[in-house]
Amino acid sequence: MIKLQKPEYAYMQGKLIPWDDAVLHVGCEAATRGLNVFEGIKGYWQKDDRFGIVFLERHYRRLLRSAKLLHIPCPWTYGEFENAVFELMGALLTKEKDMWIRTTLYVIEGHWGEGTKADLVMTAYHQEKKEPEPINLGISTWQRSIDSVLPARIKTSTNYQVGRLARIEGRSRGFEDMVLLNTWGRVAEATGACVVMVRDGVICTPPATEGALESITLDFVGALAKSSDIGFVRRPIDRTELLIADEISICGSLAELVPIKSIDNMPIDPDGTVLKQIRDKYFRVVRGDEKDPCFEVTFIPPSRIKNL
Ligand code: PMP
Repeated sequence: MIKLQKPEYAYMQGKLIPWDDAVLHVGCEAATRGLNVFEGIKGYWQKDDRFGIVFLERHYRRLLRSAKLLHIPCPWTYGEFENAVFELMGALLTKEKDMWIRTTLYVIEGHWGEGTKADLVMTAYHQEKKEPEPINLGISTWQRSIDSVLPARIKTSTNYQVGRLARIEGRSRGFEDMVLLNTWGRVAEATGACVVMVRDGVICTPPATEGALESITLDFVGALAKSSDIGFVRRPIDRTELLIADEISICGSLAELVPIKSIDNMPIDPDGTVLKQIRDKYFRVVRGDEKDPCFEVTFIPPSRIKNL
C-alpha cells in the first residue's frame, strides 16, 4: 500500500509554495462540498428580543448519525457543540437579521478511512427576516442516488454534487430549484429541501427510503399538520402526481416552506389554503408568537450576544 509522505512543496496559485502554506479557505466550494458531514441550522429573533435556535439538539444528533455512517470521529459533546454555536452566532448577530449556521465536521487527516481525524468548523450567515417568495420548480434529469450508492440519509457534502448539477440544469431551463427523482422515477427531494404536495386536502411527502434526507423540518411540518387537523402521509409519490398536485412546497431548515408557483412549467396555485395554513403557523411558532408542544428551541443567553 502506497503511503503518502509530507513533501517539501506543493504547486498552487501558479507557483511552488511550502507544503504547509498550501491551504484552502474552509468556506470555498472545494472544501465545503468535500469529505465532511454537516448541519444547516436556523435561528430567529423572537418578539421578546431573545434569539431562538431551531431544533439545535436534533441537528447535533443527526450530525452524529451521519458521522457514524461515514466513519468520521466526532469527539465534541452536545455541550461543546452548543457552546460553539452560541459563540459564533453571538459574535455575528445583529438585531436586523436572522441567522443560518452551517456546522461542518471536516475530515482533516487520514486517507481511505484510515487514521481519520475531523475538525468541527462553523460558519454563519445573516438572513433577511422575511418569508420566502413563491418559486418555479423543475424536475431534473439528474437522479438522487440509492442507499447502496450514496445514501441520502447521510448529510455529507459529497451528496450535493448531484444537486449542483441539477441547479445548473435548472438555471438553463428557468427554474429556481429542482426536484430529483429516484432511480424508480419517483419523487426523492429537492436539491436542498424536501418536497411536500397536497392532494385532496392531505399533505403527502416521500419517506426517506425514497431517497430523501431525514428532514427535521418535515417532522415539524407533520406535527403542525396534526395539531391543525390536516392529514399528513409519507408515501411514494409518482412524478405525474406532482404535476397534478393541488399545492406544492419545498421545506427545510434554510428553505423554511417555499411555495411553488409552477412545476415543470405547469402553473400551480402558490396560495393554496392547506400549505399556507401550515406556513403561517410555522412562522408564528419559530418566531415565538405561538407555542407548539412539538417545537424545540434553544435560546442564546443574552450575555453571549455582542451587539445586543
Ligand atoms: N434534503 C436536503 C438535500 C437538504 O439539504 C435539506 C436541508 N438540510 C433537507 C432535505 C431538509 O432537511 P432539514 O429539514 O433537516 O433542514
